[in-house]
Amino acid sequence: MMNSVRTDILRQVRERDVRMVRFLYCDTSSIIRGKATHVRGLEDRLHSGIGLTVAMQAMCMLDQLANIDGLGAVGEIRLVPDPRTFVVLPYLPRVASMCVDMMTLDNEPWAFCPRSFLKRMIARLEGQGMRIRASFEGEYSLLAADGDMLRPIDSSLCFSTVGMDTSAAVINATIDALEAQGLQVEQYYAELAHGQQELSIRHAEGLDAADNQITYRETVRGVAQQHGLVASFAPKPLVDQAGNGCHLHFSLVGRDGRTSLFYDRGAPYNLSTTARQFTAGVLEHLPALVALTCSSVNSYRRLQPQAWSSAYTCWGPDNREAAIRVASPFAGDEAGTINAELKACDHTSNPYIALGALIAAGLDGIARKLDLPDPVLADPSLLSEADRTARGVKRLPGSLTEALDELAADAVLCGALGPELVSAIQGVKRLEARLFAEQDVDFELNRHNTRF
Ligand code: GLU
Ligand code: MG
Repeated sequence: MMNSVRTDILRQVRERDVRMVRFLYCDTSSIIRGKATHVRGLEDRLHSGIGLTVAMQAMCMLDQLANIDGLGAVGEIRLVPDPRTFVVLPYLPRVASMCVDMMTLDNEPWAFCPRSFLKRMIARLEGQGMRIRASFEGEYSLLAADGDMLRPIDSSLCFSTVGMDTSAAVINATIDALEAQGLQVEQYYAELAHGQQELSIRHAEGLDAADNQITYRETVRGVAQQHGLVASFAPKPLVDQAGNGCHLHFSLVGRDGRTSLFYDRGAPYNLSTTARQFTAGVLEHLPALVALTCSSVNSYRRLQPQAWSSAYTCWGPDNREAAIRVASPFAGDEAGTINAELKACDHTSNPYIALGALIAAGLDGIARKLDLPDPVLADPSLLSEADRTARGVKRLPGSLTEALDELAADAVLCGALGPELVSAIQGVKRLEARLFAEQDVDFELNRHNTRF
């Protein structure tokens, strides 16, 4: 670790009177968990980490352990923080946090570590002279307790200023907190569903984008809690309303981190050959990829036709019903603003696994020189079945279990994840599917509304 970064952390801790520093990880189930160290031990723990039982990567979102080889009662790993991710939490007194890598006792990246998986995929990309820019676009619902029920805080209209005014205090505090932690807020509006918000932050390089998503989820939820509210990242918090997406925007740049490898002026939709191949890879692996980008039972209530969440494997320029929307570039910075948006992604995905798997799929597209099919320029659910078949447009998996079956059959994604991570994901997620199948819809909504 660079000494200057460490010195800076210790200085901030002193000057801002921090007492506890949380070491945070996002687990197999996409729950953000962690352990905190008292600052007295921080200097040592920046190197040595905090111990964690290996079993925690077998824990599901209902706090039951899946039966997975290597993740039993015996064995420890270390949560070793990345100093670049240090932030003092603006919404809690005397607390800071850092994102961690899961390391073995020999100080090697642990095969079950999601963040190390993303680092491996970024290294693969860099080996081919490319870097990824990404952002996880945040939609969420603000809910308030009403007896035992959680209800949306308003019934305002889509993009309406009435909705913006109702949420102004908590949104202002959220923006303050995000900015204080170095995230750049881009846009805000009241989204379609009752109580639904969209607050987007600027894209960043791959690993930073995933770390930012952890900071974002933590901050939105933490600030809402300070305001007596629940911020729900559930994909479908209310069955009869629009869902919460976490559209994953991506583009590729060269080694310099600036030159767009996605933009080709004058090419169809201004997409370069690299962009077409990479995006074709994502499209090809989509039925399996959604097990990782839409990775909860509740996710599949959202992926329905005519909800702008996407339900079919297709792409289209500015097509909000397509699983991949190619976003039109903005005048003046065309090369810098063109990007593709995977709509089939939500906040119950682990951002490290989601982005790492997207890279693996895209690189497969480049390796095999896949090309995009013709774009779909209509709502795919309104095409005839024959038309969809002719264009290779398929319905996305209808349940988490179906998506996990697709993942099990996808050698490219399983190969990239490695057998350990695959076994953890399959074990934990199938346990969740089974446990939720034994319960009713209210239980499903309640647990997803309050866990993410
Ligand atoms: N809420 C929609 C979703 O579930 C997205 C709406 C939009 O296009 O922003 O993904
Ligand atoms: Mg939106």
